[in-house]
Amino acid sequence: MKVLKFGGTSVGSPARFEKLWPIIQSQVTDKHIIVLSAVAGTTNTLVEIARQYAQGEVRQARELIQVLATQYEDFVCELFQTEKGKLEGKQLLYHHFNLLIALGDDLFTPAEERLVLAQGELLSTTLFHQYLKEKDIASVLLPALDFMRMDENNEPDLVYLKQQVEQLMAPFVSDTVFITQGFICRNAFGEVDNLRRGGSDYTASLIGAALSVEEIQIWTDIDGFHNNDPRYVSDTKPIAQLSFDEAAELAYFGAKILHPQSVFPAQKANIPVRLLDTLNSNAPGTLISSGFNHADEIVAVAAKDQITAIRIYSSRMLLAYGFLRRVFEVFERYKTPIDMITTSEVAVSLTIDNTTYLSEIIGELNHFGSVEVDGNQSIVCVVGDFKRNNKGYATVVSEAVKHIPIRMISYGGSEHNISLLLPSAYKIEALRALHHRLF
Ligand code: ADP
Ligand code: ASP
Ligand code: MG
Repeated sequence: MKVLKFGGTSVGSPARFEKLWPIIQSQVTDKHIIVLSAVAGTTNTLVEIARQYAQGEVRQARELIQVLATQYEDFVCELFQTEKGKLEGKQLLYHHFNLLIALGDDLFTPAEERLVLAQGELLSTTLFHQYLKEKDIASVLLPALDFMRMDENNEPDLVYLKQQVEQLMAPFVSDTVFITQGFICRNAFGEVDNLRRGGSDYTASLIGAALSVEEIQIWTDIDGFHNNDPRYVSDTKPIAQLSFDEAAELAYFGAKILHPQSVFPAQKANIPVRLLDTLNSNAPGTLISSGFNHADEIVAVAAKDQITAIRIYSSRMLLAYGFLRRVFEVFERYKTPIDMITTSEVAVSLTIDNTTYLSEIIGELNHFGSVEVDGNQSIVCVVGDFKRNNKGYATVVSEAVKHIPIRMISYGGSEHNISLLLPSAYKIEALRALHHRLF
């Protein structure tokens, strides 16, 4: 069994829908699970609709819903060839868009917001199911909300996932194609929730891990994992193979092609992840697996934005033990992960990307000493083989960015990561300079 995930652009138009079945068919295995994202652009529009509803701008929200509904009507008219197909498609739209309209009538809380965001994947999966049906291809819709559940710590419940999916799949013959929604889930309260932006990759990895599939395929709009961000740097190249650790670092530190958490479930279950290009399905793509490591070379660069740096100066740190623990406990209490950390004898600098509790955190850190906060920072992460005996890489990296102000450098935390913190205004310049020097 394989899991095949198709992203937003891969389901972005009726013409793109037509490319999917030949790809699905070409995978010679028994059962398949197809994970779909929302049609490209839909989730962004839903986010905007929810924002307007939350601000009480009901009329503006409904205007946006109308625009989106018209786009989907065109989509349906083009996608289905038969009158029956078109009618069923329109009935589906009617159901989802009526719900979106109705959500503006009552109190709009974060729970309603998450319901709005879920409509994109619910629409794309049902449309694809109906499209296959019109072509006389049998498929079964597996509702993600019936098996994808997060616990109170926002951790996935893999035991429940496995048990539920297996139960839902059991009645069907061996070569059935199952279709399910990426991104959406239920939270610990049973409410509709999601796995954060780009979360369909995470869905695919979680399902793959829970069912111990043969391979997880992430089909997207580019021919694999590139050695730098192709949105900002020209001449980037796909990387044939990555280790799980390398891919995890790159995804976590901003390579948009993979959701930050999506490597871990596959890595834990040791299931290979292949990144493939829907529009160029013969391209080899990138294979992420264990048992492979780049030796003595720099592999790729990625960047993560919206980082906040916090520096705590404290004379009490001098010769004190237990100081860092107390600092970390503050972040733990506010469930705020720390990404980078550097220390000196009298100060510690660290970075966070979730600023929900920033003022509370600063309030507590003020007890330890003086606190300085800088927003609008980016982490630029260089991934490669930086084992202890490999010499010179820190110099090469710092030399490449010698004209850029660097706020923090982290080297030696893992064997394959050098991270730089710099003001976001310099990010593109840093990515380009590193690319020029390293590749
Ligand atoms: P999907 O909708 O299929 O999930 P995404 O837009 O989330 O696709 O991810 C694919 C995009 O990620 C590419 O089009 C590319 O612009 C961007 N990207 C950023 N960094 C990288 C990288 N290192 N390698 C490949 N693509 C990258
Ligand atoms: N549709 C969601 C998003 O745009 C999830 C995904 O595409 O992976 O973030
Ligand atoms: Mg994505």
